[in-house]
Amino acid sequence: MESGRGTEYRKRPGESIQHRRRPSEGGERRRRPSEGTEYRRRQPEGTEHRRRQPDGTEHRRRQPDGTEYRRRPSEDTGYRRETSENRKPRRRAPEDVLYTQRSEKSTEHRSGSGGYKPRYRGNIRRVRQRNLRVGIFLLVLLVGIAGAVNAIKAKQQEAAAQAYAEQQAKKEIQEAEEKEEDNGLKLADESEKDQWYLKLVNAKNPMTQEDVPEVATETIDANGYQVDARIMGDLEDMFADAQAAGRNPVICSAFRSWDTQEYLYQNKIQRVMAEEGLSQEEAAVEAGTVVAVPGTSEHQIGLAVDIVSSEYMNLDEKQMETEDQQWLMENSWKYGFILRYPLNKSDITGIIFEPWHYRYVGKEAAKEIYEQDITLEEYLGAEPVGSSQAIESDSEEETLE
Ligand SMILES: [Zn+2]
Repeated sequence: MESGRGTEYRKRPGESIQHRRRPSEGGERRRRPSEGTEYRRRQPEGTEHRRRQPDGTEHRRRQPDGTEYRRRPSEDTGYRRETSENRKPRRRAPEDVLYTQRSEKSTEHRSGSGGYKPRYRGNIRRVRQRNLRVGIFLLVLLVGIAGAVNAIKAKQQEAAAQAYAEQQAKKEIQEAEEKEEDNGLKLADESEKDQWYLKLVNAKNPMTQEDVPEVATETIDANGYQVDARIMGDLEDMFADAQAAGRNPVICSAFRSWDTQEYLYQNKIQRVMAEEGLSQEEAAVEAGTVVAVPGTSEHQIGLAVDIVSSEYMNLDEKQMETEDQQWLMENSWKYGFILRYPLNKSDITGIIFEPWHYRYVGKEAAKEIYEQDITLEEYLGAEPVGSSQAIESDSEEETLE
């Protein structure tokens, strides 16, 4: 089936229409050359390719310096298109090798068959050795770091332990010091507590009539006051020194027998009953806050002396302001006497502040008690009497009126 000029049209079933051109005469297809231009198809070898200018002149390329440049036939192949057939084998760059190596490796991994190609075994071994070296280096480094860290930790722990030990030692020293402060008071020795001059008599340590010691008394002065004969020497020394210092203290009470104390106490009860209309029991309690109940007064053991100023003879707190009393308060301890019921110690002594009541305790105890500013109860480690039992006065002032 023919159509048009020299063109064959065929159609096969299932095929798209193809166009074929009938080959022209001579089997060679020629393109119609444009005006004045010769066109020849390049022959495989040694063919000449010339171009003519439209004016018929031959076109020759010239070099920049004006010389004529002709292409040699061999040079003609200078530019060729590279195809799969004519591609020259190239030297592979190292990257290609590595790439190939990797790709082969990966291939191997994928396929899981066979070892490496002999060509790359050296590299693999080197890589393995390098990895091993790096691994060993890292291991050594880690061990080193771990060792250093452990050493630092050990040092820190050691330092902490040392600091803790020092702290503990300090604490112990501090506690020991505090304990010494608490019990730092120099108190009476156990053996000394039984000495006659440290005999404790108070509301919590009363005596019965039978307990009252047989006191060998001695009369002090013209007024007829008596004291335990054993304190006479120190008492006289004190008065002598006071007078030498220009002071003139006077004794207003000293040893009282049980009977005398009993008389004072009962007399007080009767007066309270009469004045306040109380029963005898109530009056006895009331009287006990003013006059010491028999058996609870230090005057009964001959070791207490009430001393007042010759310039002020009242038994009250103003007594302490007198020069005579000031001298006694500062110096009595040197002769073995203490101010027995000091200010702000009523909760211990059970007796109100009495700046006239002196008690003989011996020179050593008097010094300790005076310097430590404590009471006889404290010095002996005795239980405090308590302020609730405080009485106003143990003196016989009222009955002596
Ligand atoms: Zn007294």
